[in-house]
Amino acid sequence: MNVATDNPPAAQRRRSREFIDRVIGAHAEAFDLEQEVPRGVFDALAREGVLGALVPAEYGGTGLDPLAVGLLCEDMGRASASLLSLITVHTMVSLAIARWGSAAQRTRWLPPLARGETLAAFALTEPDVGSDVKSVATRVERKDGGFVITGTKKWISFGQVAGLFFVVGNCEGKLAAFLVERDTPGLVVEPIANMLGFRAAMLAEVRMNECVVAGDSMVGSLDFGFSQIVGSVLDHGRYCIAWGSVGLAQACLDASLDYSEQRTQFGRALKDHQLVQRMIADMIVNTRAARLLCQDAARARAEGGPDMIIGAAVAKYFSGTIVEKLASDAVQIHGANGCSSSYPVQRYLRDAKIMNIIEGSAQMQQMMIAQHAYQRW
Ligand SMILES: Cc1cc2nc3c(=O)[nH]c(=O)nc-3n(C[C@H](O)[C@H](O)[C@H](O)COP(=O)(O)OP(=O)(O)OC[C@H]3O[C@@H](n4cnc5c(N)ncnc54)[C@H](O)[C@@H]3O)c2cc1C
Repeated sequence: MNVATDNPPAAQRRRSREFIDRVIGAHAEAFDLEQEVPRGVFDALAREGVLGALVPAEYGGTGLDPLAVGLLCEDMGRASASLLSLITVHTMVSLAIARWGSAAQRTRWLPPLARGETLAAFALTEPDVGSDVKSVATRVERKDGGFVITGTKKWISFGQVAGLFFVVGNCEGKLAAFLVERDTPGLVVEPIANMLGFRAAMLAEVRMNECVVAGDSMVGSLDFGFSQIVGSVLDHGRYCIAWGSVGLAQACLDASLDYSEQRTQFGRALKDHQLVQRMIADMIVNTRAARLLCQDAARARAEGGPDMIIGAAVAKYFSGTIVEKLASDAVQIHGANGCSSSYPVQRYLRDAKIMNIIEGSAQMQQMMIAQHAYQRW
């Protein structure tokens, strides 16, 4: 994990996976139940270099390449969708600062983000603004060389513990991104509990009432704001969730293989019933296909070609869609046990539903993919 390579050696991947299974996977059910992740987990992820995955080495990060980031997200998704979302939003903000931030912003924020001293949250969605991101209503006004921000952000992953918010607001009729510290006067964090899935993602509503931030809090400039910066950040988010969905699909498959070998009905193991085999076969094919699309997206990113953005959208749409079916079939194979808290597949099903809503819903991906095709041909 600590070395960026095009293709992490098997031993390195194994070590990374063992770490994630031990620190996260083994406790994922408890995190989900308690709707909380202990601080020690964030520290362990930072020590392992996970929180610095998108921070360049010169700022103390691990600067992983696209495939290594994808494999990390797959392993996180397999262990806990909630923690996958931490990596997603934290690296989205790291990426924005590393790629588009000023020298002062990079020096100020990247080292503490890599060390996990500061957790970052991505604050775009509002109570009345979801998919239609261009309608963001959070108001940003210039005043005395700084900015005054007023608005409400909702469903902000790890907003309960984040020290830094990447806030998208409307300034002089244009969308732009601002770095807002948690202790800014006027900023209030209200925890959101009892979600269907991602229950340990420590969601929050973030209310900003005339929050005054410094003039150098804007990431990029007004003329070079929304489309490039937020576009590339959202693209990274889609990429993470695509790979994370593959990990969750793999977890559904692994649980179903184990259970169908152990459980006997009609005098035979479930695995020997052909209708169960059919579900297993579909799970295997869909997981492999999703992983191949993610690998294709990784290749496009590494090459930096024109297919980069659409590759992630295609991978996210397919992975998010198949994982819902996989998780549903995993519960089906487990029968009543699958509906109980004694088995993880109930969590997988609740988390799988969310994959098709966050980082651009399935419908947004469908429209993006089709519109892209019409542009080319
Ligand atoms: C667990 C979780 C974590 C989240 N974390 C974050 C976070 O960290 N930061 C953040 O900013 N946001 C976050 N979100 C919010 C998330 O990004 C939004 O939920 C998402 O963008 C969809 O917006 P919405 O929920 O308002 O749905 P809406 O936009 O209201 O859409 C509702 C439904 O209508 C469909 N729809 C909308 N418009 C169209 C259209 N033109 N054509 C066809 N169908 C359409 C959508 O696909 C969807 O199915 C999180 C959400 C969840 C559930």
